[in-house]
Amino acid sequence: AEILEQPYHLKVGGQERTLVVGHTMGVALFPRDGTDSAQLLRAAELALYTARQRGGAKYRFFQPEMQSAVEYRRRLEDDLRNAIIEEALQLAFQPIVNLQDGQVAGAEALVRWQHPERGFVSPDIFIPLSEELGLIGAIGRFVLDRGCRFLKQWRDETQAEVYLSINVSARQIPDEMKPEEVIATLQSHQLPASSLAIEITEGALMSHVAVAQEWIGALRSVGIRIYLDDFGTGYSSLSYLKRFRIDTVKIDKTFIRDLPDDPNDRALVFAIVTMAGSLGLSVIAEGVENERQLAELRAMGCRLGQGYFFSRPLPPDEFMAYAQGAKR
Ligand code: C2E
Ligand code: MG
Ligand code: MG
Repeated sequence: AEILEQPYHLKVGGQERTLVVGHTMGVALFPRDGTDSAQLLRAAELALYTARQRGGAKYRFFQPEMQSAVEYRRRLEDDLRNAIIEEALQLAFQPIVNLQDGQVAGAEALVRWQHPERGFVSPDIFIPLSEELGLIGAIGRFVLDRGCRFLKQWRDETQAEVYLSINVSARQIPDEMKPEEVIATLQSHQLPASSLAIEITEGALMSHVAVAQEWIGALRSVGIRIYLDDFGTGYSSLSYLKRFRIDTVKIDKTFIRDLPDDPNDRALVFAIVTMAGSLGLSVIAEGVENERQLAELRAMGCRLGQGYFFSRPLPPDEFMAYAQGAKR
């Protein structure tokens, strides 16, 4: 590995160039890991796969556990495919609350997968998996449609201007969540565009700037809102936000967690709230878990928040009950 890391000096068109070649290796040993070339190659490939996954590792020797990890994953993939076909995924809704009066202003839809044997599988596991497998488009459309159906019912019941936000990951932009598809879905549920918000992360903006700008522009031009999710964990340039026509930033929960005790987090959250305000952007604080955090956020002038202090993400009927209770 050290030898491969040595830079190469090449002459290209009379110019000296230095090249550093990246590499990853999987190693299998005869006869421990296999007794014919096919077995050995398979073992080496599994080792390579593991080395790649642990970005940074240059090489890995085959280990028997790698076999079971791959089988585990393959089964999870099959199960996820089936879950989508059988519409076994569900939505949970977490209230987004007005911090001044405790009223429920809206909700975030979060996808849930209750696996028949494994139990609850976190979206942090199956969303990235679905992206790799090309299933994220199907999941996204399911979330949009079910989310809209729920929102329609909620608005009809409460007669209030509540709104819903859904999460869209970088891989869905632009073709797996086409603006015209979103608009058509809203229309089919008889919902105004202003009742829907789409949460995207900074990574989604930065990977293809021009594409993201056009996609956002198409949604914004009909009145759909765009929230920047997990704000503070990425590039976090507030001036950049203006270029992207964002409505709202959601301050990542890692900055809320240690409020009000951590002076750095306090300064940072205050700066985000203040600067967002002067740019005409709204702010939602994520991960509000206790009274002290709430008091600090209020004092800073942060208007909206969500978190376990108010409610965990809830199934639709429990959410309705919560929202009705909170209004009184
Ligand atoms: P996110 O969009 O930032 O969602 C917020 C996450 O924080 C949720 O985790 C929520 O349950 C959790 N949370 C809410 N309040 C609190 C709190 O007070 N304390 C703490 N510690 N956590 C809190 P969840 O549901 O596991 O979702 C994880 C991520 O998966 C989401 O992060 C989002 O990026 C992604 N995701 C969820 N649903 C979808 C979806 O339908 N489509 C896509 N593309 N991604 C989704
Ligand atoms: Mg979100
Ligand atoms: Mg977030």
